[in-house]
Amino acid sequence: MLALQGDVREHAALLAGLGADVALVRRPSELSTVDGLVIPGGESSVIDKLSRIFGMQEPIRAAIRRGMPVLGTCAGLIMLADSIVDAIDGQESFGGLDVVVRRNAFGRQVESFEAELDVPSLGPAPVNAAFIRGPVVESVGEAARALAALPDGRVVAVEQGNLLGLSFHPEITGETRFHQRFLDHVRAFAAAAA
Ligand code: GLN
Repeated sequence: MLALQGDVREHAALLAGLGADVALVRRPSELSTVDGLVIPGGESSVIDKLSRIFGMQEPIRAAIRRGMPVLGTCAGLIMLADSIVDAIDGQESFGGLDVVVRRNAFGRQVESFEAELDVPSLGPAPVNAAFIRGPVVESVGEAARALAALPDGRVVAVEQGNLLGLSFHPEITGETRFHQRFLDHVRAFAAAAA
């Protein structure tokens, strides 16, 4: 669990409820002890700055290159995107997901809303998704795959290998299936490394 900024506690509680052994990661030495990383919602420009101050940018990029599973929600999706539209000056991401995301894509007036999403890869029950000044996936490159879209077609969940990025916040609506999918990746990754 990357614990530089954002809604760390909600994710940690959900993961613990699924039986995961959760560690808060702020430093490279802590990153090297985990088999997966959740990047929470929050403010991507702050997570970016803190990750560079804490010397975490390169280690996280290297972990992503090694195939470490990562789940990014909202600001976390922005951090995983290869390219960001409407970033602040100098804002960088870790990258890994072959997508372009637009920050704060849902405008200022409607800052948050909930929507029911069909996510066929998670089964028939719809996902109740909470959007809080979230990004939208403007384009999905060849390496990545869209998992869910709003009724108007805008993509809000993507996957590429062990990376999973969501525009919304499953950790606040009690939706556990994305975290379960992440943990399945983590267990497979840890087993392969053992
Ligand atoms: N607007 C935030 C950003 O750009 C994301 C909002 C969120 O994570 N809830 O990082």
